Amino acid sequence: MTTDTVSAPETHAFEADVSKLLHMMVHSVYSDKDVFLRELISNAADACEKLRYEAISNPALFGEDPQLRITLTLDKEAGTIVVEDNGIGMSAADMGETLGTIARSGTKAFMDKLTADKNGEGQQLIGQFGVGFYSAFMVAGNVDVVSRRAGTDEAARWSSDGLGTYTIAPVDTAEAPARGTRVTLHMLDDTKTYAERFTVERIVKAQSGHVPVPIFIREVGSEEEERQVADGAALWTKAKSDISEEDYADFYRSVAGQLDKPALTLHYRAEGRHEYSVLTFIPETKPFDLFDPDRKGRIKLYVRRVFITDEAEILPRYLRFVRGLVDSADLPLNMSREMIQDSPVLSAIQKGVSNRILSELDKIATSDVDRYGAIWENFGAVLKEGLYEDFERRAQLLGLARFKTSTSNGDWRSLKDYVASLKDNQTAIYYATGTDLDRIAQSPQLEGFKARGIEVLLLPDQVDSFWTTVGVDYDGKPFKSVTQGATDLSLIPLAEGSAAADAPNEDVNSFISFAKEALADQVSDVRVSDRLTTSAVCIVASESAMDLQLERMLAAAGQAPERAKPILEVNAGHALIAKLGQTGASDEERSDLAFLLLDEARIAEGQPPADPRAFTERLERLMAKSLT
Ligand code: ADP
Ligand code: MG
Repeated sequence: MTTDTVSAPETHAFEADVSKLLHMMVHSVYSDKDVFLRELISNAADACEKLRYEAISNPALFGEDPQLRITLTLDKEAGTIVVEDNGIGMSAADMGETLGTIARSGTKAFMDKLTADKNGEGQQLIGQFGVGFYSAFMVAGNVDVVSRRAGTDEAARWSSDGLGTYTIAPVDTAEAPARGTRVTLHMLDDTKTYAERFTVERIVKAQSGHVPVPIFIREVGSEEEERQVADGAALWTKAKSDISEEDYADFYRSVAGQLDKPALTLHYRAEGRHEYSVLTFIPETKPFDLFDPDRKGRIKLYVRRVFITDEAEILPRYLRFVRGLVDSADLPLNMSREMIQDSPVLSAIQKGVSNRILSELDKIATSDVDRYGAIWENFGAVLKEGLYEDFERRAQLLGLARFKTSTSNGDWRSLKDYVASLKDNQTAIYYATGTDLDRIAQSPQLEGFKARGIEVLLLPDQVDSFWTTVGVDYDGKPFKSVTQGATDLSLIPLAEGSAAADAPNEDVNSFISFAKEALADQVSDVRVSDRLTTSAVCIVASESAMDLQLERMLAAAGQAPERAKPILEVNAGHALIAKLGQTGASDEERSDLAFLLLDEARIAEGQPPADPRAFTERLERLMAKSLT
């Protein structure tokens, strides 16, 4: 292209979300501006890996320059930093599509989180999130991107001050890299100090020392030669004994785009029928988008060191917090990404790696209880999804599962522990679901279990309402909700110091039959409970219905299920209930009392009264009466 065909720049507005992101980035969230380098280098490395991949089917793309590299050029005088790569490059159209919109999935979730974040946790969040190209505007007042797509002879320039618009214009190829992208940052007055070798070298080593492309630094006007600061060697191909913990941590940060440390590093080479290397990590902190429905696993797939895809779904969804890569020696390089997904080699890898991660977890679950507890604390709720999604590994996952229980004082207990301390005649594993551990622990339904010293699993995660309903058992013991169906606790002796509840007398029985009739539209039954010791009443779901917490969750999600009528259970030994049996009250008054008891039980569950207006009227009648 010659200069006279080069047309004037076209001005475009950033997508609204980009403007918002830019504004947040420049004005608030980051204190650690160093990450802009990590982001630009990671884009440059991605571009090189894309070229490597495309060159498999089209080697001509390499032209005369097969050595992929990233070069950082620092100009202290001019106050610029240039990040250049000889990777795949971008056409003018590519630039319009990628540098003006938000491509990356998860960015929206991230921004929502950040916007909702009122307590300044943004700092922490941001560390977990690759903010990408736009982070350049944290340090630069103007950013120019000149790029030439590999295999073409057209080049274009993208320019912006990050304040709402950007321009794109074709440029003469003489002004562009022979292939790839040159990003020039015109640093702000207070960030010009970044343009120094010492600073940049330190940051690159700390953040990007292990990107799979070599990195060089050049300083304009310096005597010193261009210097290599990262070798671009694939860490996973090195012997474990040659890799330090720090190396692993650095690599983890670049592959995961997170700033924390790995809680578990798994590096091994599988040999035999299939050969592949695995380097995976479990993060030390919980990523903010762990439960974002769009979140995918991000295990990268390489074939003989060529990056193929990070969408191969190598691990099941319930291991989506694991980061890292797999490098296969025997997948064919020229297979399309779609074909790879269906290849038997990939399924062997999927199976092998998943099993290995679980068995590694199993190992530290016994060898390092505290470390395992921390991993479970972060990711247990995700791992439990496997209990209903992965039938084949269910037993193994049940072995890995840890629970806080009514008797564990905040410690994690395994099911093995639980089963080892079953009470005489106890045939089920009891659990209580809810949203908040403390509240579950206070449920009236637990009273009868406490009185007998029976341990109850306290399950506060959403997923708990699901896996418990799919017929799971452990060691031949079924799981049974304390808020559902009949209990037969009478066979299990009371703990010392707990008094046996009185058998209901005739008066109580007659009140129960009265309440059953009065509440017939509301409940399917009113009966004497062996779950209660101190509370007067509670509600439970009937055996065949959905458990209470699951019903509440579905209703909250707008999938209001056909509400089954619950059962109202009364504590025959409770002074109030005993009195209700004896009271000489009128039927109207007894009816009020029955409704109030039901509403009381609902409130104890954290639910509103069925009919708030009727409830307050009844309450007022009762209060008025107590004053006469
Ligand atoms: P992400 O890297 O997560 O996709 P970024 O904001 O970092 O998000 O980059 C947006 C997109 O811009 C990239 O996906 C890529 O398509 C394009 N891009 C950025 N830098 C380069 C580069 N150096 N070479 C080629 N394409 C690039
Ligand atoms: Mg990026």
